[in-house]
Amino acid sequence: CGIVSCMGRPNETLETLMEGLGNLEYRGYDSAGVALGPDLEVRKRAGELDELRTAVSADPPAGDFGIGHTRWSTHGPPADRNAHPHTDESGRVAVVHNGIIENYQAIRDELEADGVTFTSETDTEVVPHLIARELRRGSDGTAAAGGSSSIDPADAFHAVVDRLEGSYALCATIDGHEGIFAARQGSPLVMGVGERATYLASDVPAFVERTRDVVYLEDGQRVELRPDRWTVRNADRSPAEVSIETVEYTAEA
Ligand code: GLU
Repeated sequence: CGIVSCMGRPNETLETLMEGLGNLEYRGYDSAGVALGPDLEVRKRAGELDELRTAVSADPPAGDFGIGHTRWSTHGPPADRNAHPHTDESGRVAVVHNGIIENYQAIRDELEADGVTFTSETDTEVVPHLIARELRRGSDGTAAAGGSSSIDPADAFHAVVDRLEGSYALCATIDGHEGIFAARQGSPLVMGVGERATYLASDVPAFVERTRDVVYLEDGQRVELRPDRWTVRNADRSPAEVSIETVEYTAEA
């Protein structure tokens, strides 16, 4: 299973994501998918990466950045509906996730009681619904102190990640917002820092042909990628101290 995300290669987003997913195939998977932003477009398929390649070449998603996923099912069988990225009902939020959200059933019960309709059997699907609800609360003004009428997408993301128990490497993107959010807890996630582009992936081979400058993220850390900057924070929102390491890499013969 694997994650690859890319910010900063506007004309090559899809190509970069598909190449990254190909480089992560060795990790094993049963489904694959991508979401491109800022005008969210999702393509996903159960089966080999070739199924996704066929789907994206028939109807190529356009975007300046994106998130991609290969799934190793833990909750819900391999099927298009269970493939990632997962979205909320309005298609406003897209999320990819490796790992297991241990408290997903309680969250799902709560969301269903609130009238939310789920479209998959995954543990992951609670995450986009929670983020969408957080963003809606912000626009209602009900969650915002001092009558402010909108919630910062980063605040919405942090608030949702705070609720998750279990293991996760996850990436999220929000329709109309030029950013990718990520969090790591108990599942691998590394950041690649290129000259013009930034990457997130389960493992270095996903992007090593594009940059060898890597930040190994730690459990509890959260990342925000924007077109002009990247930020790593701790769970308490304080800026994290990170070091960029240059990896040696030799492609296997
Ligand atoms: N638990 C999630 C699912 O079953 C993610 C699996 C994975 O790590 O790929 O969809």
